[in-house]
Amino acid sequence: MKITHVRTELLRMPLPRPMQAAHSTGKKGGPVDKVNMPLVFISTEDGTTGVGYSWSLLGGDTATRCILRDDFAPLLIDEDALDHERLWHRLYKRLQTGGRRGLVTQAQAAVDLALWDIKGKIAGMPVYKLLGGRRESAPVYYSDGGWLYMNVSEMVAAFEPYLAQGMFGIKMKIGHADYRTDIQRVREVRKALGDKIWIAVDANQKWDYPTAVRVGRELEQIGIAWLEEPLLCEDVPGHARLAAELDIPIALGETLGSRYEFAAYLRAEAVDILQPDIIRVGGITEMVKVATLADVANLPVEPHHMMESSIQVACGVLDSGSIEYMPWLASAFAEHVTIKDGRMFPPKKPGLGLEIPEETIRRFRVD
Ligand code: MG
Repeated sequence: MKITHVRTELLRMPLPRPMQAAHSTGKKGGPVDKVNMPLVFISTEDGTTGVGYSWSLLGGDTATRCILRDDFAPLLIDEDALDHERLWHRLYKRLQTGGRRGLVTQAQAAVDLALWDIKGKIAGMPVYKLLGGRRESAPVYYSDGGWLYMNVSEMVAAFEPYLAQGMFGIKMKIGHADYRTDIQRVREVRKALGDKIWIAVDANQKWDYPTAVRVGRELEQIGIAWLEEPLLCEDVPGHARLAAELDIPIALGETLGSRYEFAAYLRAEAVDILQPDIIRVGGITEMVKVATLADVANLPVEPHHMMESSIQVACGVLDSGSIEYMPWLASAFAEHVTIKDGRMFPPKKPGLGLEIPEETIRRFRVD
């Protein structure tokens, strides 16, 4: 199925709620209110068009579009759109010296998503069925209401409607200048929500090792489900020491760029819960491989963010793990994701089931 046309776009979408995490802040340390969404539309000789997207928060968006338009599009023309594995490796090797993780990989993810979308449309099947149809839905936790700039009552007010809908828990950010502030906020949220609600916390790489040990021990007393990204993502031995020292599970992976980087963490026994980001690892093709590594290590996978595409892998190949409800890109898509009784269902339409209206592109396009 020959590729005949590749179109690229770049959108900048307003966030439904401004965000602020330990290392993600806007000007003067305040909240961030927009998310970048590079797009690729790949068309084939039979008139099928697949849509793929990438995301970034604090830059790199125009560069990602350039990689898609100037480097990847010429390589894809006349290729067989069904050869997702061959094309993934072709793109990887072509830009390996400037890529392997980061913007190149994130552009590669957009192409990979578009190719899977085409495959599903041609097969007349949703992608999760093509991947293996492991389950029909995944449980959801709420993750867009626990930012650092919010006080405890604002966070609780944000969490409650989603818990009332049946979501099983929430995640909140930690990583204030004084870690005791974080402990106090987590205690207060725990008290407000009660002992039955699942709570995870995310430090976004804020601490050094001694601080992470101190905070981790406190969090164990509060019944926190996991401690996410306590240390710099490059610090594999530090995470190994921490995982051995603490009882609370260490979750990470959103900043890792390939199966090779996950393998390094697994070999060092430095992670308990794997959180691949479907865009940052290079798409569905690579995320399935990360899931296989986790399977061999007998560790859970909890996909990071990007719920609209992660749901395909979460239901296609995983029999456990949840979806992080963070509707940052929701307003770009024609239809909202389906959630019933706290569980997300992949679209039943062929492919990814994600349509981006031309009107939305016109409205949010960056030239
Ligand atoms: Mg995180």
